[in-house]
Amino acid sequence: MSGANAKINLLGMNRSDLESFFESLGEKKFRATQLMKWMYHLGVSDFDLMTNMSKALREKLKEVAEVSVPEVIYEDISADGTRKWVMRLAGGNSIETVYIPDNGRGTLCVSSQIGCSLDCSFCSTGKQGFNRNLNSAEIIGQLWIAARSFGDYDLSKERYVTNIVFMGMGEPLLNFDNVVRACDVMMDDFGFGISKRRLTVSTSGLVPALDKLGDVTDVSLAISLHAPNNPLRDVLVPVNKKYPIEELLAACHRYLSKLSDKRRITVEYTLIAGVNDSETHAGELRDLLRDLPCKINLIPFNPFPNSGYERPSRNATLRFQKILSDAGYVATVRTTRGDDIDAACGQLVGRVEDRTRRSQKYIPLQNINVSPDGRASA
Ligand code: SAH
Ligand code: SF4
Repeated sequence: MSGANAKINLLGMNRSDLESFFESLGEKKFRATQLMKWMYHLGVSDFDLMTNMSKALREKLKEVAEVSVPEVIYEDISADGTRKWVMRLAGGNSIETVYIPDNGRGTLCVSSQIGCSLDCSFCSTGKQGFNRNLNSAEIIGQLWIAARSFGDYDLSKERYVTNIVFMGMGEPLLNFDNVVRACDVMMDDFGFGISKRRLTVSTSGLVPALDKLGDVTDVSLAISLHAPNNPLRDVLVPVNKKYPIEELLAACHRYLSKLSDKRRITVEYTLIAGVNDSETHAGELRDLLRDLPCKINLIPFNPFPNSGYERPSRNATLRFQKILSDAGYVATVRTTRGDDIDAACGQLVGRVEDRTRRSQKYIPLQNINVSPDGRASA
């Protein structure tokens, strides 16, 4: 909250935040779940409609609080049903969110940062630089807007968003607290009631943050591997110089060991023609992942201007997949969805005013530190 008269945005608050908020107003804790049902189950932002609260309480809420969602400045629906939104945030930058319907499932791909500081060589978000972390209202706002885009909704009756993946713009583990808070809201029965098996945080592999994640939540995990050896991964995913593959895989084992159920890690591997898509690479990957309970998601590279990379042929992709499936892995090739509206992986760019100094962007990542606002520095 900034300024004496600024209202508190309740969107994105988890149950314990809201309990504290109501207690600070001299109200009972159960008001928190009442409000959550209105806000998250029914998509209601107007306190006047929250009729199980007294008139006096509603007046008080209007005075001190609001339910404020990001502004949608562009919405598009692809021929295949994929939806994309561009949302403008405080400060004037924008982010993108994508909804992908598929065989009775509806997966929402949410952004966690405006841009990204990690600069993976094949990712257009990374090429844009980094502006700032999203707060939890801005993360939950993406889900709220997607759910509302199907008209008035009641989560107890119908559900369009069944799965959520943090695979939009940004590195979620560099925005740790806001992402964890948003995950709480997504999974809470009084929030969006998404199962922990259907909520996936995707990371490029920040090992200490990954260990911390396993201590505070039990969402599903995807890692962006993209290369089967360190020299190649150093080039594609520069943060590998700080946290090499063997450390990342050890952290994945630790993460799985903290879960109370049996789950697998999703290993994401973007296939780039002539770079990481040979039979030798596939064999290396097969051997590397031998001990890790995982499924492998192969993502044919999605081109963007001046990337310098190309998507492999269908044959090369299938050959790579076959080497893995012959070895017993579940290896799927992600079909490109919504590419007529630039909604495919790695094509999300929004509008990002880069606040990373150029010199800072190209620091050798051996000495990387991450500040609480998600910026990397030497
Ligand atoms: N920062 C996180 C989450 C966002 S990226 C991460 O890196 O995991 C989501 C996925 O899209 C990652 O696996 C990423 O490597 C992949 N991706 C990025 N650019 C891509 C591109 N141009 N083509 C295909 N996949 C891409
Ligand atoms: Fe950031 Fe992920 Fe893109 Fe790498 S792939 S630059 S970590 S968003």
